[in-house]
Amino acid sequence: MRSVDFLIIGQGIAGTVFSFWAQRMGFSVHVVDEVSPNSASTVAGGLINPITGRFFRKSWLFDELLPEIGLTYQALEQLLDISCWHSMPLYRMLTTQQELNDWELCRMIPGYEGYMGGPFKGSDERLQQHVALAPVWEASWLNTSVLINAYRVYLQKHDSFTEASFQVSSLQRNNWNDITFKHLIMCQGFRDSVQLLFPNLDLRPAKGEVMIVEIEGPDLEYILNKNMLLIPLGNKLYKVGATFEHTSTKSLLPGSLEELKIKLESVIQAPYRIVERFSGVRPTVKDRRPLLGVSTVQDNVYIMNGLGAKGVSLAPFFAKHLLRHITEGEPIMQEVNWQRFA
Ligand SMILES: Cc1cc2nc3c(=O)[nH]c(=O)nc-3n(C[C@H](O)[C@H](O)[C@H](O)COP(=O)(O)OP(=O)(O)OC[C@H]3O[C@@H](n4cnc5c(N)ncnc54)[C@H](O)[C@@H]3O)c2cc1C
Repeated sequence: MRSVDFLIIGQGIAGTVFSFWAQRMGFSVHVVDEVSPNSASTVAGGLINPITGRFFRKSWLFDELLPEIGLTYQALEQLLDISCWHSMPLYRMLTTQQELNDWELCRMIPGYEGYMGGPFKGSDERLQQHVALAPVWEASWLNTSVLINAYRVYLQKHDSFTEASFQVSSLQRNNWNDITFKHLIMCQGFRDSVQLLFPNLDLRPAKGEVMIVEIEGPDLEYILNKNMLLIPLGNKLYKVGATFEHTSTKSLLPGSLEELKIKLESVIQAPYRIVERFSGVRPTVKDRRPLLGVSTVQDNVYIMNGLGAKGVSLAPFFAKHLLRHITEGEPIMQEVNWQRFA
């Protein structure tokens, strides 16, 4: 019989980052995951982007998230001896004079100056017609599949990982299979069964597709963003994303492929070859805030979910917040308390 402080269900970005920080803080962990090749975290674009949306707004809480992003992903790179977190310029493609004016106005907002740079005209002839490329500072991307796979191997080496499908029916108060735990942390992403321990949880599925393409010519040295993402992976390969549909089916659809092609062709006018396609389901919430806190069914069970379309940015800060809540009694921020809709 094994005994741990934290039994964690799910090893997406939430379970990975939570278990990493729990161990760093001196607690013992065990992680259970079904190991699905198309979990949201595995297929994610992995983009960390401080300025988003049509109106160029700073991502919620980004000033607080940023230091935790750097600390977490650098520490994981060191621990696992991998390279997965890539700081890279991100250029927002502006295609109308109105967008350019809006960009210039937003740059004046106090607190935005560290994130928005002065627009310039792109010189690569493969770029579509544009008014300007606008630099976003402090953007980066995480190769989530590299991180998640390497961290799973690390856990396995330390006998801290079980590949299995967790069922609530086999849960006892401090026991699951042959593992005794003090706290159970549910990091399952979108699953209907989450409701069993968190009744009426407002979690909604949002399927997304991405594709890997090969584009001739020298590799772009920046991420391109419009209402889409183009992330250079090296060797002429790029990740193109992403679609957004309110459904939980994971099948690759012809309509989504068409949408991705249109998005790509709206920024690049060069021949390309589609190499691979992926899909996953984001765990989203109507107010776009995470879901954290203790279960109303069992008081040693907690949730970290609802990371939506920004899990890579949110996971480091909120994993630590949940840990401090459990171990030091820090109150859960009301904005992310899973019971806020009750
Ligand atoms: C196409 C697409 C593109 C995206 N792009 C970005 C992006 O650029 N930047 C960004 O920040 N975010 C992006 N996201 C969103 C991001 O992927 C999510 O916010 C994040 O992955 C959610 O992580 P999670 O760990 O909560 O859930 P998941 O990644 O879904 O992980 C849950 C894990 O729990 C396991 N699990 C579930 N139930 C059980 C069970 N009963 N037993 C055992 N294991 C179980 C699953 O196997 C899975 O490994 C994207 C998502 C998609 C789909």
